[in-house]
Amino acid sequence: MIPVAKPLISQEDLDSVRDALQSGQLAQGERVAAFERRFAEMCNVREAIAVSSGTAALHIALLAHGVGPGDEVITSPFSFAATGNAVLLTGARPVFVDIDPITYNISPDAIEQAITPRTKALMPVHIYGYPAAMDRIMALAEAHGLAVIEDACQAHLATFQGKPVGGFGTGCFSLYATKNMTTGEGGMVTTDDPAIAAAARLYRSHGQRERYVHVSLGDNLRMTDFQGALGLSQLERLPALNEQRRKNAAYLTSRLQGAVGTPVVQPGYQHVFHQYTIRTRGDRDQWANTLKERGIGTGVHYPIPIHQQPFFVEQGYGASLPVAEQAAREVLSLPVHPALSEADLAKVADEVLALCK
Ligand SMILES: *Cc1c(COP(=O)(O)O)cnc(C)c1O
Repeated sequence: MIPVAKPLISQEDLDSVRDALQSGQLAQGERVAAFERRFAEMCNVREAIAVSSGTAALHIALLAHGVGPGDEVITSPFSFAATGNAVLLTGARPVFVDIDPITYNISPDAIEQAITPRTKALMPVHIYGYPAAMDRIMALAEAHGLAVIEDACQAHLATFQGKPVGGFGTGCFSLYATKNMTTGEGGMVTTDDPAIAAAARLYRSHGQRERYVHVSLGDNLRMTDFQGALGLSQLERLPALNEQRRKNAAYLTSRLQGAVGTPVVQPGYQHVFHQYTIRTRGDRDQWANTLKERGIGTGVHYPIPIHQQPFFVEQGYGASLPVAEQAAREVLSLPVHPALSEADLAKVADEVLALCK
């Protein structure tokens, strides 16, 4: 079976985790601090704050910007449910607007139409590792005095006009097992704003300014030091791993273009292909089943847009967002990860082309 995702753990990863475990420092310590410094450097931002998951990163970033009850956060319905849940966790209301049918990212025109006096923040998602239209999104935020929180959970080191994502607004990354780099579970907040960084650090650890002095509400959303060791080691390989994903994607597109809808890469955008997602023509679920029978794992990201999830329908969501809904019926993610051999990639392309006949 060719899996749709596969974590890549190197000998260096194993060595650094073993060193961390043997050091006796298990909870957050100097390895997490070093991982944060390196992550900030690579994203070209002043500060990075390591946390326990991508969801925690989103939640903390929203809280650090003062998002809470009575506020609206405009975001994409075409994402993992955590994007919506993080907003609900603060007591604010996510406002889902439709996406662009080509990039699958939030539509700036749709954002503009949804801004109200209650809007507090914009939360674009760089879906599949492809940056959202940050020029227009930042211009809208500036014009209306809104915070920008980037869900970059799938987009480590993707760039827009040469600038890494997570550096436009406040960035939120996931380090979950299947992401482009991993600490098993984990997340990172990135920012250039020292006040946002300070608020995020406080909330991460019980609102504790110094030992046993608690100055704000907080939680325990810290990362362990052995995860920090793994993150540091993975991060050094990330540029090469992303490059391999881009090569794999270029091969798949060269084979599949014209037969199915293939991902676009527009000028100024650098894709990191967390997913390589096609538009199927025909019965998507049948395609997935046939590919599975032929030894190829696929994924559907995502079959139900967030505004149509049962829990969100219970909250009164569900209004039609036709572009996202059509995408949810048609998308299929193929293996693109760096562990694929040339033979694997050829087989993926051959089998998808066979379905188009
Ligand atoms: C993975 C992911 C998250 C959540 O990250 P976790 O680390 O699993 O909590 C949020 N948003 C998007 C777009 C994701 O892909």
